[in-house]
Amino acid sequence: MNSTLGRIICGTACAMGARDVIRAGREMQSVARLDRDGLVALQIDKLNELLKHFRGVTFYRKLLDDAGVTEGGIRDMADVARIPPVSKAMISEHLSELSGRAEAYRSGSTSGSTGVNFRFFQSREMAVQRTAAVRRCLASVDVEMWGDCSVSVWGVVQRGGVKTNFVRAVKRFLLNTDVWQGVGMDDGMAVDYLRRLGKVKPRVLMGYPSYLRRLAEVGRDREIETHAPRAIICSGEAMLDTDRSLIEGYFGGPVYNRYGSCEFGIIAQQCRERGEMHIPPTRFIVERGDEGELLITDLDNRATPFIRYAVGDAGTPGWGSCSCGHYGADLLTLDGRMHDEIRTASGRMLPGQFWTIVTKTVEGIEELQLVQRSLSHFELRVKVNESYRDESAGVIQKKVCEAAGEDVRVDVVRVDEIEVTSGGKRKFIINAMEDGGVEGDGH
Ligand SMILES: [Zn+2]
Repeated sequence: MNSTLGRIICGTACAMGARDVIRAGREMQSVARLDRDGLVALQIDKLNELLKHFRGVTFYRKLLDDAGVTEGGIRDMADVARIPPVSKAMISEHLSELSGRAEAYRSGSTSGSTGVNFRFFQSREMAVQRTAAVRRCLASVDVEMWGDCSVSVWGVVQRGGVKTNFVRAVKRFLLNTDVWQGVGMDDGMAVDYLRRLGKVKPRVLMGYPSYLRRLAEVGRDREIETHAPRAIICSGEAMLDTDRSLIEGYFGGPVYNRYGSCEFGIIAQQCRERGEMHIPPTRFIVERGDEGELLITDLDNRATPFIRYAVGDAGTPGWGSCSCGHYGADLLTLDGRMHDEIRTASGRMLPGQFWTIVTKTVEGIEELQLVQRSLSHFELRVKVNESYRDESAGVIQKKVCEAAGEDVRVDVVRVDEIEVTSGGKRKFIINAMEDGGVEGDGH
């Protein structure tokens, strides 16, 4: 349905059913009148409450005690830096303790680009705050979450059972949204998507920049007329300048960059002014840790202590004010995943995340590790469960060739355990090129 009708029907229905989200949105709005000291004080208060709460979790209390962090002992940002960072491994190790707690309202998981399936929990209040942050970020680019028509092109659209699919379909109808699969998009599928966009006419188009870029390239080359959305939001991958210009050039709508993760929802997004990405001030404290890795504190999640959590991305937070009304932390740069990229003979760079997308297209892969033997030869080691089928190796090889070039060879190897480094860390990418890949490919 179109956005005007959507706003009336869906907006009313959602607003009636989501009073908490509206309340949270008002709270976020109300901090706009605070100055920097006021804002930091609010964050510190929330953080002290959160630390007090997590003292009820044995492993976390021990962590605080060992670091000498006392109850209510955080007074300023310098004190925050005394709190030990939390890693994925720590949360995974203590998952059973966290899962037994009443706050574990919803579970989530991500395979990220580390190649390891990571599970965690979200509290109900966190889910409310996360939704309020999405609504606020969309509003900052003139889109109403409840009612405005949206289309998203993400990697894989999960297929569930009949019941799950029905619930999902109802939700999408109510929210006036549609989600299309990007993985496996060939030219024919891109043409189909572009035609559908012309019919659906979404107010906002969202997706991984690589897929939106692909759509734009196909549309441009084939001279397909399309619809210009009011906003185009790129998320889930690092966005290149060429992505932005290609997408804007073809669709004729402004592109906004967004940074988010499964653990937190939206962490930062550009507003209509298209300056720095704004971080919702009441949701997070974002710091720059060792080697530039972002440490994120979710001030609302009482189910999992995402406190100074090493998210695995490098970036630089800063402070700013914007004519849109935002005052507080911004994300000045986002420098990609901490754990390397892959080079191919054709000179293309494949982000680590690419491999996750590839393996998400087949079922049954629990962990993976990529060994780069040469510029055109990779070994993908997979640890699989019973739902994996050997035929899937061919599907993976095909996907890799589509992205990296026909001259790339991928051997999919099943292993019982993924190799770890001498320090005991899992490593997603192993560079086993004899010459370091400087020249030639060794074949
Ligand atoms: Zn702004």
